[in-house]
Amino acid sequence: MITTSLHNHSTWSDGGADVATMALAAKTAGLKTFGISDHWVMLPENRPFDIEWSIHPERLGCYFQECLEVKKQVETERFTMRIGVEVDFFPENWQENMAHLANYPLDYTIGAIHNLDGFPVDSSPEPWQALGQDGINDVWRKYWLRLKALAETKAFTIIAHFDLPKKFGFRPTVDLDSEITAALQAVRTSGAQLELNTAGWSKPCAEPYPSPSLLKRALALGIPILVTADAHAPKHVNRDFDKAAQLLDSLA
Ligand SMILES: [Zn+2]
Ligand SMILES: [Zn+2]
Repeated sequence: MITTSLHNHSTWSDGGADVATMALAAKTAGLKTFGISDHWVMLPENRPFDIEWSIHPERLGCYFQECLEVKKQVETERFTMRIGVEVDFFPENWQENMAHLANYPLDYTIGAIHNLDGFPVDSSPEPWQALGQDGINDVWRKYWLRLKALAETKAFTIIAHFDLPKKFGFRPTVDLDSEITAALQAVRTSGAQLELNTAGWSKPCAEPYPSPSLLKRALALGIPILVTADAHAPKHVNRDFDKAAQLLDSLA
């Protein structure tokens, strides 16, 4: 039974419930370790901050303060709470960003790519529909290169939703195997854990991140896998964890 989930959101970013409600839901669901990891986006210089789904830049300290208070309330001998952030990776400023985060009582970081030089990868299908197949192929290629760069920083504890661009079902029609292989190898070298994010099963792509075939390749490389729910609501704190356990068993 999987009893840890470290990728979860609250109303500090785009989640639907406060930190305490999420933590108590995890406890009730039988999890032993629960992590809160709200979105943290620090945009590269000269871009105005208009990201509604991130902790506001001026409120990061308040986020940690609230998480520490909830931690005190909910922790028992059998239940541990950890405090993280899901960090958007930008090649231009990741070092500055990580140095900033180091000022806070952070247990772990989840490295993620939701935006590729202005293209929103997972917000809605419309930007994808507007691309055309060549554009779709380009986004995928760029995504794998960016993910490799993310892993090469060795700055993140966990690497988020490995094949996120598939979310709305827009697939590449070109062979990107060498890019994918390079990204997987960079993840292995980084020492980071790769999440098996169960939320993908409930998206149009109808499969976890990474897909079973990519998961199999990650396991073959010896990359440590961590099951996460990426929950944005209390009822999802361990969504499809049984399915994830079965999948991992089938690939072992
Ligand atoms: Zn994410
Ligand atoms: Zn997330």
